[in-house]
Amino acid sequence: MSLPEFKLLRPRTLEEALGQLARYTGTESNGRGHPTLSVRVVAGGTDLIPSMRQKLFEPQYVLDIRHIAELKGIRSSPDNSVEIGALTPLSTIEHSNFLRQHYPVLTQAASTVASPVLRNMGTIGGNICLDTRCLWYNQSLTWRKACGFCIKKDGDLCHVAPGGTKCWAAFSGDTPPALLCLDAEIEIVSPLGSRRIPLRDFYTGEGDSYRKLQGNEILTRVFLPAESAGWRGVYRKLRIRGSIDYPLAGVAVAIKKSNGHVEDARVALTAVNPAPVMVKGATQALQGKAIDESVAESIGELAAKTAKPLTTSALTPEYRREMIRVFTKRAVLAAASN
Ligand SMILES: Cc1cc2nc3c(=O)[nH]c(=O)nc-3n(C[C@H](O)[C@H](O)[C@H](O)COP(=O)(O)OP(=O)(O)OC[C@H]3O[C@@H](n4cnc5c(N)ncnc54)[C@H](O)[C@@H]3O)c2cc1C
Ligand code: SF4
Repeated sequence: MSLPEFKLLRPRTLEEALGQLARYTGTESNGRGHPTLSVRVVAGGTDLIPSMRQKLFEPQYVLDIRHIAELKGIRSSPDNSVEIGALTPLSTIEHSNFLRQHYPVLTQAASTVASPVLRNMGTIGGNICLDTRCLWYNQSLTWRKACGFCIKKDGDLCHVAPGGTKCWAAFSGDTPPALLCLDAEIEIVSPLGSRRIPLRDFYTGEGDSYRKLQGNEILTRVFLPAESAGWRGVYRKLRIRGSIDYPLAGVAVAIKKSNGHVEDARVALTAVNPAPVMVKGATQALQGKAIDESVAESIGELAAKTAKPLTTSALTPEYRREMIRVFTKRAVLAAASN
C-alpha cells in the first residue's frame, strides 16, 4: 500500500513547528462535522504511517517533529517528580532506572508496547495521542469500501453497534492507563499559548473524536507528580502475539502501602473502552485494606463492570471482559506483594 502524496515539514525547534502549524493548519469537514486536518503531526510514525498507507489520513502536510531536541528526555527533580518530553522514545522510558525505581507501573507498561524496534521509534507522546482501533477501521481503503465504510471514516453507520450514532473504536495504548494511575498531567502547546491538563481530561470517550487536541496543537511534555513516586505498580495486558501486539485488554495498578495496609491506590484499564479509564470505586475499595485474595477479587469485579468491550477487536467481548477481571485480580495481588 503506497503512501498518499503530502508535503513534509521538518522543524528543528518548537517555535519553528508552531509557526508552521499556524501557517498550514486548516480544516475541512468529513461530512459529519468532524474536521479532517490539512496538517498531521508525526513523531515516531509507527501508528500514523501505517494508517496513512491505509488512506485513513491523507493530509496535505506532515509535520515531522522528531528533530526537536527540546522535546526529548527525562528530567527529574529532587522531590522525585519528573517531566518527560513527548518525543522520548518508549525504549528510553522502558530502560530508565529512575522511572523503574520510582514509577514502575510506567516502565512495565512501556516495555509491553509492540516490539523493541517499534519502541525505539515510537514515542510517549504518540502513545498518548494514539488513534483508537477497530476491526472495521484499521483496514485498507479497498477493504473498507467493500464493507461500506463507517462513522469513524467516510460513512454514517457503525458496524459494531448499528442502531446508534456513536463510534466505539477502542483506545489501545499501553502507557496511558499507567499514566492515569500516576495522576499524570500533560502540556499542550499551540501558536496561541500553552495549557497544562490532567491526562484524565484529555480523552473524550468517543471512538472517532477521541482526544481533546486541536489541529494546531502539539503535546510537549508529560508530568508525574512527586506524590505518585514510590508507588508499587504492575501492568498486565492481553494480546494475541506476545512479541508484538496491541493490547486487547490491559490493566494498570498502582498502590501506596504503609504498615502492610493500602494507603492509596488507583486502577485503570485500556483497550476495552474508547478511552483509557480509571476503574470506578477501586480506590475507595482498596484504601485501608490489607490485600488478600478476596479483596483482589472484588477489584477484579469492579474492573469487569467498568470495561465495555464490544466487537471492535480480534477476541470476543466476553473473553476480554473476563480477562480484565482475571488480570486485575492478579495485578492487584502482584502490586501488593512486590
Ligand atoms: C505492529 C505494531 C504493533 C503495535 N503494538 C502496540 C502496542 O502493543 N501498544 C501500543 O500502545 N501501541 C502499539 N503500536 C502503536 C505504536 O507503535 C505506539 O503506540 C507508539 O507509541 C506510537 O508513537 P509514535 O511516536 O510512533 O506515534 P505516531 O505514529 O507518530 O503518531 C500517533 C498519533 O499521535 C499524534 N502525535 C504523535 N506525537 C504527537 C505530539 N507530540 N503532539 C501531538 N500529536 C502527536 C500523531 O499525529 C498521530 O495521530 C503498534 C504499532 C505497530 C505498527
Ligand atoms: S466502532 Fe463502529 S464507527 Fe467506530 S470504527 Fe468501529 S465500525 Fe466504525
